[in-house]
Amino acid sequence: MTQYDYDLFVIGAGSGGVRAARMASGHGVRVAIAEQRYIGGTCVNVGCVPKKLFVYASQFRDQFDAAAGFGWTVGKSTFNWPSLIANKNQEIERLHAVYNNLLLKSGVSIITGRANLLDVHTVAVDGTEYSAERILVATGGWPFVPDIPGKQHIVTSNEMFFLDQLPKRIIIAGGGYIAVEFASILHGLGVNTTICHRGHKLLNGFDEDIRDFLAHEMTRKGINILFNTDIEAIESADDCFAAQLVDGSKISTDLVMYATGRIPNSTGFGLEKLGVELDSKRAIKVNSDYQTNVPSIYALGDVTNRVNLTPVAIAEGMALTNKWYANQPISVDYDNIPTAVFCQPAIGTVGLTEAQAREKYSDIDIYKTSFTPMKNTLSGVDEKNLIKMVLIRSTDRIIGVHMVGSDAPEIIQGMAIAIRAGATKAIFDSTIGIHPTTAEEFVTLREIET
Ligand code: NDP
Repeated sequence: MTQYDYDLFVIGAGSGGVRAARMASGHGVRVAIAEQRYIGGTCVNVGCVPKKLFVYASQFRDQFDAAAGFGWTVGKSTFNWPSLIANKNQEIERLHAVYNNLLLKSGVSIITGRANLLDVHTVAVDGTEYSAERILVATGGWPFVPDIPGKQHIVTSNEMFFLDQLPKRIIIAGGGYIAVEFASILHGLGVNTTICHRGHKLLNGFDEDIRDFLAHEMTRKGINILFNTDIEAIESADDCFAAQLVDGSKISTDLVMYATGRIPNSTGFGLEKLGVELDSKRAIKVNSDYQTNVPSIYALGDVTNRVNLTPVAIAEGMALTNKWYANQPISVDYDNIPTAVFCQPAIGTVGLTEAQAREKYSDIDIYKTSFTPMKNTLSGVDEKNLIKMVLIRSTDRIIGVHMVGSDAPEIIQGMAIAIRAGATKAIFDSTIGIHPTTAEEFVTLREIET
C-alpha cells in the first residue's frame, strides 16, 4: 500500500481532466477528480456543445427562406428563446449524467467543491484533505475582459448561454473565435448585431484570404463589422447601454458582449504558494511531459494555453496517463491540428496558412476557388464558398487546406487525415470526386493561382 490516498488527483472535470481521470482509472490506479462548478467544464457547459446547439437554432431562418426556392411554402415562423435555453439546459443535464456515470463506472472518486493545494502531494476540498502521488491541474480558462469604465454592464460567453431574453441589438467586442461565432448565432436569431474589433481583420492567425472572405460574407448577411476601433467605456442609459468608441462616437445597444480572449484559471488555489511557475499570460508552464517545475504537479489543456481546443486537451489527457500507467511515450502531435470556427458561413482549416508557408518554404503553390454551392442556386441565399490549398511545389506535398462554407468543419476533418498522411496534390488529383458535392472541389482544383 502506498502512502497516498490516491495515485492521481485531478483538479478540474473538463474535457482534459475527465479523460485523464477515466483513462488512469482504467489502468487500475486510484483516481479522484475535484470539480467546483460544472462537470464537463467549458466545452459541455458554456462552450462547444451549447454553442453548436445555438448554431443549429440560428440556421433555421435562412433555411425557411431557402425552402421557397425549392417549392415549399413555409408558414409564419416565430422563435422562442426561453424554449431554446430550456431544451439546451436539458441536454446539458443529460451530458452531466453521462459524464458522471462514465467517471463512476471507471472507478473514479468524484469530489464536488473547490480544490486547494496544501502541499505538493496534498489537496483540500471543503476542509477534507486528500493526498496523491501525482496532482494534475486541468482547470481550463475563463473569459478575459479588459478594464474599462462600465465593465460591470457587459456579459461574456458564459452568460450568453443563460440570458433570460434575447436582446434586439448587441455589440460584440473582439474579432476571434467566440466573437464571430456569437455574431453569426445572434444575427441568425434576428438580433441586430455589431462586431467591434480593434484589429483590421477578423480571426488573427487564420489565412488572409479566409479572413477577408469571412468578413465579406458576414457583412453581406447584414452583420455590422467595425474594424480598427475599440470600446472605451460603457454607460447605462434607461433600458439600454451606450458604448463609447475610441473615436468619441457612441452606439446605443441592448447588450454588450465581450469576447476578447480567455485567461488560464491558474491562480487562487495554491499553485503560487507551491512555487509552480506561470508564464506572462498566467498559463502554467509545463515540459513535454506536462510536468510543472514542481515534480509531482502536472497540467494540461487550456490552463497551459498551448492549443486551447477540447480535442487537444483530451489527447493530452490520454497521452499523459498512457505514459504514466502503460509505459507509452507521449504522442500528441501539435502540427496540423485541424480547427473549425462555427460562424456562418463556417470555417475549417488545417496546416499552414499561405503566409506561414511562404515564410518557411521558397516554392509554394496556391490553388484557390470560390463558388456558389449548388443548394444556393435555388435557395436564393447569397452565400459563397471559398477553398484554398497550399502546397510545396518541389515535393507536391499539401501543407495547408482552408475552407469557408457551411460544410467546412465536416470536410476539413477528412482533409486533416490526408495531410497527416502526407498527401500530395497528385494523390488529390487522382482521387475520384463525389458528385455533386462541395467536397469534390478539393480533387478538381487545377489552376495554380498566379
Ligand atoms: P481569441 O483569442 O480567438 O480572440 C480574442 C479577440 O479579442 C481577438 O480578436 C483579439 O484581438 C481581441 N482582444 C484581445 N484583447 C483585447 C482587448 N484588450 N481589447 C480589445 N480586443 C481584444 O479568443 P476568444 O475569446 O474568441 O476564444 C478563446 C479561445 O477559445 C480561442 O482562441 C480558441 O482557442 C477557443 N475556442 C475555440 C472554438 C472552436 O474550436 N470553434 C470556439 C470558441 C473558442 P487581436 O486579434 O487584435 O489580438
